[in-house]
Amino acid sequence: MRISCFFLPFRGILFPEKPFFDRHPGRGGVPIFIQPDPNETIFAFQKDRLLVCLTPDPRLPRVREIPAAELADELTGRFSRARSADSAWARLPENTPLPEGMCLVPLREAWNLLGEAAFLEAGRARQIMEWIEETNYCGRCGKKMKDHETEGARICEACGLTVYPTVSPAIIVAVEREGKLLLARSPHFPKGRYSVLAGFVEPGETLEQAVEREVFEEVSVRVKEIRYFGSQPWPFPHSLMVGFSAVWESGEISADGKEIEEAGWFAPEEFPEIPPPLSISRRLIDDFSRRHGRFLPSREGKK
Ligand SMILES: [Zn+2]
Repeated sequence: MRISCFFLPFRGILFPEKPFFDRHPGRGGVPIFIQPDPNETIFAFQKDRLLVCLTPDPRLPRVREIPAAELADELTGRFSRARSADSAWARLPENTPLPEGMCLVPLREAWNLLGEAAFLEAGRARQIMEWIEETNYCGRCGKKMKDHETEGARICEACGLTVYPTVSPAIIVAVEREGKLLLARSPHFPKGRYSVLAGFVEPGETLEQAVEREVFEEVSVRVKEIRYFGSQPWPFPHSLMVGFSAVWESGEISADGKEIEEAGWFAPEEFPEIPPPLSISRRLIDDFSRRHGRFLPSREGKK
């Protein structure tokens, strides 16, 4: 069995306080390969699914528990910043028999099983592994690409193209009007689910402009008082969700019929099914409920 591995350095030993993906030479860390400790935990993916041990309690496997681990040379030695103490990343080949007592779970399930920190770390591991695989060849001239010597980047020596890990910013916004929240249904949502509006930022656009445009495009409402709320990496496949609150300014809701099939204003006690706790959409909705002096409604989103 061949396993492609990426290893995280130990916090405080190699790059204390410094992010690995620093784009400025001289300030960032240099990729250095270290051998994994057999006792390190490992984020091992087979396609989109994460390997976990479910008994006796859910946990990540350790390197030594994956049998016949053979590192693929071409994918070895890529690091990320030392946010977690000791973890390795790996891509398991398809159809690899799973070690006893382990199973593969969707990435979202990692949040329920292992907690938010592990979910974020697993998402980051998968994003970077996919980015490396997608940058084997230069998108401009077609030649083979290689790791940048001093930055977390890939470079084509033939034409000089340098590419960084893909991150796609998207806005997500809680629009309120007189104590009610704008909740909408995408045809892609599970049946009965509503959430706040979201959409990708377009080239040349500020985040605030993206908020104004998305809300107007999707439900024909103008907004004002756009305020930053928080953000969340969303590794499906490589989004960064940037959350905002906003206030209705003008217009009546009219769903565009494509991205949004239904939308309306809801007081907290009127909420339909809403997203589960792992997403920033839910944090925005919960924040609205708290600010309006209400506890969460009984009909919470299902996990
Ligand atoms: Zn090139």
